Amino acid sequence: MTRSGAAGPASARETSSAARTYPVTERTEVRRADRASYDRELVHAILDEARLVHVAFVLDGTPFVVPMLHGRIGEILYLHGLPAARLFRHLRTGPEVCVEATLLDGLVMARSSFHHSLNFRSAMVVGRARLVRDHAEKLAGLEAVVEHVAPGRWADARRPSGPELRQTHVVAIPIEEASAKVRIGPPVEDPGDLELPVWSGVIPVRLSLGEPSTEGAAGVPAPMPAYLAELLARRDGGAGTRDGGDGANRG
Ligand SMILES: Cc1cc2nc3c(=O)[nH]c(=O)nc-3n(C[C@H](O)[C@H](O)[C@H](O)COP(=O)(O)OP(=O)(O)OC[C@H]3O[C@@H](n4cnc5c(N)ncnc54)[C@H](O)[C@@H]3O)c2cc1C
Repeated sequence: MTRSGAAGPASARETSSAARTYPVTERTEVRRADRASYDRELVHAILDEARLVHVAFVLDGTPFVVPMLHGRIGEILYLHGLPAARLFRHLRTGPEVCVEATLLDGLVMARSSFHHSLNFRSAMVVGRARLVRDHAEKLAGLEAVVEHVAPGRWADARRPSGPELRQTHVVAIPIEEASAKVRIGPPVEDPGDLELPVWSGVIPVRLSLGEPSTEGAAGVPAPMPAYLAELLARRDGGAGTRDGGDGANRG
């Protein structure tokens, strides 16, 4: 299935290049090669910056797409949810899933309606989901999901109790077949359209955090911790894409 990249004997240079990219497979070959990338760091960065992913799977011939929170540790994506949810009920069979993340960067306005577009970065991972049964991995997966929401939160919030853990499924998806697709830059214009008096350009799109509110929150008040103040200070700069030394997503 692999078309290029990881397979076969290789020189040290080729080996290190293959290690930096995912193999191109029948399932991940992007038709528009100029927008495609199989670079692991880029795929990781998109997954890490995305606030949520969409998880697709087919059950009894019907396709479903479910928005979910996610976390990444190295080359594994973690999802969590209630065992009663359709996806998690289905997971016992170890289904193939497709996970997708999109970052919208701009509205691209051309002089012609035909050349209107979006600037974006998206990543897609295809793989077999695995229900996590190992206690330590389950906790690590949950930590990755919580840390993805706000780095520093896992150490601060109460850890899940035994009953809470039993009520929660964690699923691991290996990032082995993955691609990124990126569009950046101005609109494409047909030469014949250049004299048209129609506004042309890019309107940037940013996802930003708003002002925090404790209105309606139950319990004793607590000061805002430094890690959340830091998150807010960076709020207009995106969710961050840092990797910790252990490969865990911390941004
Ligand atoms: C931003 C975001 C993040 C989320 N993160 C998580 C997460 O990390 N873990 C988790 O378990 N769930 C998460 N959810 C909820 C998730 O999308 C599903 O709703 C849930 O997993 C399935 O719940 P269910 O068992 O009620 O539905 P299912 O049994 O899976 O589905 C039954 C039917 O309910 C409807 N339905 C289910 N989900 C949705 C939806 N999101 N929107 C509209 N209709 C729906 C559909 O018609 C579906 O066929 C998230 C939702 C959002 C919007």
